[in-house]
Amino acid sequence: MRTYNIAVLPGDGIGQEVITESVQTLTTLTQVHGGFRLDTQQFDWGSERYLREGAMMPRDGLAILERGGFDGILLGPIGDPRVPDHITLWGLLLPIRQAFDQYVNLRPIRLLPGVQSPLVGRSPTEIDMVCVRENTEGEYAGVGGRVHQGTEQEVAIQSIVFTRKGTERLIRYAFEYARQHGRKKVTSATKSNSMQYNMVFWDEVFGQVASDYPDIAHEQHLIDSLTARFVSRPQSLDVIVCSNLFGDILSDLGAAIAGSLGLAPSANLNPQRSYPSLFQAIHGSAPDIAGKGIANPIASIWSGQLLLDHLGEHEAAAMLMLVIEEVLAAGQVRTPDLGGTATTRQLGEAIRSQLKGLS
Ligand code: ATP
Repeated sequence: MRTYNIAVLPGDGIGQEVITESVQTLTTLTQVHGGFRLDTQQFDWGSERYLREGAMMPRDGLAILERGGFDGILLGPIGDPRVPDHITLWGLLLPIRQAFDQYVNLRPIRLLPGVQSPLVGRSPTEIDMVCVRENTEGEYAGVGGRVHQGTEQEVAIQSIVFTRKGTERLIRYAFEYARQHGRKKVTSATKSNSMQYNMVFWDEVFGQVASDYPDIAHEQHLIDSLTARFVSRPQSLDVIVCSNLFGDILSDLGAAIAGSLGLAPSANLNPQRSYPSLFQAIHGSAPDIAGKGIANPIASIWSGQLLLDHLGEHEAAAMLMLVIEEVLAAGQVRTPDLGGTATTRQLGEAIRSQLKGLS
């Protein structure tokens, strides 16, 4: 039987609660489907480890993940009020994205049936897009420095790095994705009116790559007015391609118009498969509800669904998506972020029992 090795990092805050539901649901799915197995190995890396041992992950953490022969990584949210955010992010997630060359951050933005968008009157067919975010360079390249700290002469510089290789491969991925998934248009988001070097460069590369895809419509949009278009005309958007920072911001906005941050998944992809790809909910560790058992597990379960798709288990992935949609559409079991009173466990159980009904 096909067997995949999956590294599981529950992370911080609500991470353990939502990742437990994701792993149990994937396990149920393998039993219902019957064609493959998942072998999981858990790692307790994260902020508790940082507070205990001074590092988010072991010094050779990346090598452990690389040597482990993992087919994918399932990650929970990272972040803790006791640890500065730049330490948590640069201590775990960003090094993995960069070292494993996960240059595509794929973020579906869909209003699922039965979920209420805060945009009045919008239906699922009107909010259905995919954000293809650059994931290893740009604003989060980690290039810069601070000098004369704490003095009047203090200087802080954070450089934005766009390379031709990094920009072109990402934009090409967006067009290939559109072609393979029957999507009609790619919208590029930049700010080239005020950033005359890197964003104008991006626009040029976008135009060059677009000319290789005459079957896919393309357009350029300034990021500021694109945020307004997310709200006023979401139905006009299909595939969006953008830099690291812009994608980060747009996808939180996307999650909000799709009904809840607790629903939004993401895939950090190494399309060449030279390293494992990583799958995670886009939400943070939600310290305000951690430990209460009321977090919505769907973002993490849907991230597991993206993992299955990446592994080539398309049939199983489709089964899981169908069941998520059915449970939400039925509207009986909802966590508080969706206006209900169900617990994290009850929503996970509802999805698993619906899955069992497929067998
Ligand atoms: P980050 O900077 O890592 O994105 P954050 O603190 O800005 O983190 P979140 O941790 O994502 O943001 O939390 C933002 C709000 O969304 C909080 O009120 C939180 O409770 C809520 N939230 C986040 N994830 C979930 C979830 N899975 N289910 C329910 N509510 C959630």
